[in-house]
Formats: sequence, structure tokens, C-alpha cells
Amino acid sequence: MSCQGTYDTKRDILSLRQGELRDILLEYGEKGFRASQIFKWLHQKRVKDFDSMTNLSEELRKRLSNEFRIMSVNPVKRLSSRIDGTEKLLYELEDGNHIETVIMSYEHGDSLCVSTQVGCRMGCRFCASTIAGFKRNLAPSEILLQLYETERLTGRKVSSIVLMGIGEPLDNYENVTAFMDILSSPEGAGMSLRHLSLSTCGLVERIYELAELKSQLTLSISLHASNDETRSRLMPINNKYGLDELMRACRHYFDVTGRRISFEYALIDGENDTKSDALGLSSLIRGMPAHVNIIPVNKIKERDYSSSRQSAAAFCRMLTELGINATVRRTLGSDIDAACGQLRREYEI
Ligand code: SAH
Repeated sequence: MSCQGTYDTKRDILSLRQGELRDILLEYGEKGFRASQIFKWLHQKRVKDFDSMTNLSEELRKRLSNEFRIMSVNPVKRLSSRIDGTEKLLYELEDGNHIETVIMSYEHGDSLCVSTQVGCRMGCRFCASTIAGFKRNLAPSEILLQLYETERLTGRKVSSIVLMGIGEPLDNYENVTAFMDILSSPEGAGMSLRHLSLSTCGLVERIYELAELKSQLTLSISLHASNDETRSRLMPINNKYGLDELMRACRHYFDVTGRRISFEYALIDGENDTKSDALGLSSLIRGMPAHVNIIPVNKIKERDYSSSRQSAAAFCRMLTELGINATVRRTLGSDIDAACGQLRREYEI
């Protein structure tokens, strides 16, 4: 179900970087500062129509509304955890697709887990987000709107964002980096990229590209195994980029950005939880300033992978004894299927 008519041909103004907006306004014969005014209306005051932009001339507002549209996402379901204050929002996009967003509460503030694609094509065995396959990339606006709409709806203030919802952020590289620029622009949402984590299953070429941005974000690598055989069984991407190549990219990323890397390790009984896995992991990351986040694998109905906090704690101890900086990640929102890997493209509404 897509919108028809002239509406479709109007450009998505929320997806424009400030510099792009400025170039357009200069072409209109407007002064450059108009871009800053409009950017603030869109990303700080978060207005939903051009008529609300009261410091612009009526003529400019009319021109903008003829050529641009302000996208929206429509909340269709909101679930609240009884355990830990986590909330999961289901949003309908303008073309009828759905995505999920999760807001979690931590000691240092609220964190938002956003989706970057409708579905995912990476095929990790343990992850629900990949089960209905891949539909399309999200536009920068659709990634930003998960923040704007969730803050508006819940009245909560988000202090950090993790790109760990549905999708592989580096498989939507252009839009995700545009999102980062708008998010961190002082006249946009104004969030420092120090408060952003980007999680990837390991698209090596994109890791090299990302390094060149020299951004302050935290790069999280979904490792989940310490040898190629196990990793390829769990994560098809490993057939394309093996562990050697991935770890080389990680070392390069650290060398260029100086930012410590975070490795995610979903612990799965009988798959990756032995002493020899811990040894393998420690030799992979030895000498690299890194942190390992152990996650007892979250259940999804299509697979019977399981783990427990006890096994995660035991595995964590093995790593610590080997001199590796490791912690067990708190599982949040498991009663509303909002935990890692439980978000999906298709739902019962
Ligand atoms: N595509 C990106 C980001 C999305 S997933 C990535 O692969 O990193 C966010 C994290 O949840 C990843 O580390 C992912 O591997 C992990 N994950 C997926 N399914 C999980 C599950 N069932 N239990 C625990 N973690 C899971």
C-alpha cells in the first residue's frame, strides 16, 4: 500500500543534511541562515508541517510544501515490560511496512534501540529479525523519526542510541551515515556520536570506510564465535569475510579512530560456550583495547537455541581469568520480546 499521486514525488526533507538543505535554499535565492532555521524546526522543534515554521515568509513555506514532505511514522502498538521499564514500539511506515523500536532504562539514562532496515538479509541463525527476509532500507528520516516519535509518545528523554534493532546498519551505509550527520549536527538533534553505538555482523569493507569518518561512535562487532567453523554455521556473513579479515579490520578501526571496540558474544549452549571457545576468543582479541559483552542467547520461537545467566557468568569468568575485559549484558524487555534478536519484521498486531 503506497501513497499515490504528487505526494510521492515530493522530496523527503527530514533526510537532508544541513549542507544539502542550505544548497537548495541558496538556489532558491534565499539566505543561507534559512537552512539553519528550517533544520531547527524539523529536528529540534520537530514540527509536522511547513505552516508551523513561523519565522519563514509565507512564500517560502508554500514553496517548501510544494516540493518537500515531512515524513512521519505511525505508532500502532506499544508494549511495556512489567520487569524493567523497557518499552517496545511498533511503527507503521508510510508505505505500510512495520519496524520496531525499543526504549530501555539504564542508570546513566534512557537508551533507544533503533532499526535501520525493514527486515534483514544477513541470515544469522539465532536472530528473529532475519526470518521474514529483507524488504528495504530505511531512509535517514525513518531512523530519526524513531527517536523523535518515541520521545514524544513516552515523554522520556533519550540519552544514547544503539543501532541494534532490525537490520544491518552497514548494509544501509549511505542512509545510516546521513542519519549520523543529522543526529549529531548542533542545529539538528544535537546528540554527540559518543552516545551512539553501531553494531555490525562484520561487513569488512564498510568497517574500513567507517574508520575514515573518524567518528566518536562505539563500534560493536557481533562476533559470537572464535573460530570460522562455528561462526560460519551461526552467521552466513562469515563465509564472505572470515575471522582473520574481520579482526584485521577491527585493529585498523582502532588504529585510525582510537576508539575501543566492543565485541558481542551471544552465548549458546553446546555451540560456543566451552573453555576452548574462551581460549580462542582471548587469542583473537589479545592486545586490542576491547570489551566483550556476553549475552545469554535470547529465545526465538523458530529455533531451540538456549543459554542461562549461569553459563554466561561462567564464560565471563573464564575470559576474565584470561585477562580479557568482559561483562554479561543485562537482558531487558524479554517479557515483551524486546531483547536482542527478538525484534522482527512481521507481527501479529
Ligand atoms: N545487524 C547488526 C545489528 C542488529 S542485532 C548486528 O548483527 O550486529 C543486535 C545484536 O543482537 C547483535 O549482536 C546480534 O548478533 C544480537 N542477537 C541477535 N539475535 C540474538 C539472540 N537471539 N540472542 C542474543 N543476541 C542476539
